[in-house]
Amino acid sequence: MRIIDKVSLFYQTFKGEKSIIGNSLFGLPIYCITVRKSDFPIIVVQSGMHAREHITTLLSIRLAQDFYNFGRVGTVHFIPLINPDGVCICENFNRLYKANGRGVDLNVNFPARWGMGEFNKIISGDSDFIGEYPLSEKESSLLCEYTLKVKPNMTVSYHAKGEEIYWEFGQKGNMRKRDKSIANAVARETGYKVKLTPNSTGGYKDWCVQQLKIPALTIEVGADELEHPIGEEYLDSIYQKNKGVLNVLTNALTEKIWLKNL
Ligand SMILES: [Zn+2]
Repeated sequence: MRIIDKVSLFYQTFKGEKSIIGNSLFGLPIYCITVRKSDFPIIVVQSGMHAREHITTLLSIRLAQDFYNFGRVGTVHFIPLINPDGVCICENFNRLYKANGRGVDLNVNFPARWGMGEFNKIISGDSDFIGEYPLSEKESSLLCEYTLKVKPNMTVSYHAKGEEIYWEFGQKGNMRKRDKSIANAVARETGYKVKLTPNSTGGYKDWCVQQLKIPALTIEVGADELEHPIGEEYLDSIYQKNKGVLNVLTNALTEKIWLKNL
C-alpha cells in the first residue's frame, strides 16, 4: 500500500479529532490529527516534508495513535504528511526525491534567513531548491498558517536520517538554555546525538525558533548507514526509540527543566 493510502486509511478510521489543513499543489489532502489531553503544552509534530523520508509519516501516525490511547498531558497536532505530492513522486518515479510536486525543497522555503544556506539551489530539482520566494509553496505556507493558528509552545519536525537532533538557530540567553536543555532531554530518551547545523537555513524549525521564539526540534530518525528511503522493516526499531519523546517534551515544558539543569 502506498504511503498516501496508509495515511488516508489511518485518517478515515481514526476515532478522535481530525481535520484537513488544506491541499497540496496536486490537490492531495494534508491531514491533521489533534489529540487534546489538557490545554498545556501545545505541540505541533510534522513529518513527511522530505519525500524520501516517508518513514517519518508512518512513525508519526503511530505516535498519534499512542498519544490518543495513552497520552496524559498536553495537546498535540500531528501533521503526518505535509508533502504528499513529493512522496508520490518518490514512490513512483524517483526513490531519492526530496522536494515537493514542482521541485521546491520545502525545508528551505521558510522565511528564516531564506536563501543563505550552504547547499541552497536556485533551480528546481530533486532537492535544495529554495523556491522563488519564502513560502512560495502551498505546503509550506499551509504549515505556517496552521502553526500560527494553533500557537504551539513547541514544534517537532521528523526527518531521516542519521539519529541526530537539531535545535539551534541563533537563540541567545535564556531561550538558548531552554532549547538546548529540551534537546538534551530528547537525546537522553532516544540515544540520538545533539548536533549544531550552522550552515542550514530556511527550515520550518528555523522559522519557529526565529519568528515564534519557541523551542523547535528537528529529529533525524534512522541509522546513517541505512539507505534512502528507509524501508518499513525499520519502523519498529525507530518507533521504539521515539515512543517516549512526547512524554519527555510535555514533562520538559510543564516542569521547565531548563531552570533546573542543562
Ligand atoms: Zn529531511
